[in-house]
Amino acid sequence: MTIHAQNRALSLKVDRSACAGHGLCYGAEPEIVDSDDQGYPVVVAEPIPEELRDQLGALVEMCPERALSVELPNSEG
Ligand code: SF4
Repeated sequence: MTIHAQNRALSLKVDRSACAGHGLCYGAEPEIVDSDDQGYPVVVAEPIPEELRDQLGALVEMCPERALSVELPNSEG
């Protein structure tokens, strides 16, 4: 997956109800996602800096529970 939003602020969203908390995401991209004390992911790069955007597509796709998604918070047009 390629993220096409060069000039837009991107956020990573975690669906806590879908997440199984096994840590693939924060193990792979700790600059973007850390874990809370229960082992659930916490997004630490908010919005996602440009230099980390290349990893976003792979990060979303690596989640076997489909709990990760990319949002455009400033998507008024
Ligand atoms: S990879 Fe997906 S299911 Fe696993 S901890 Fe991360 S968000 Fe949760």
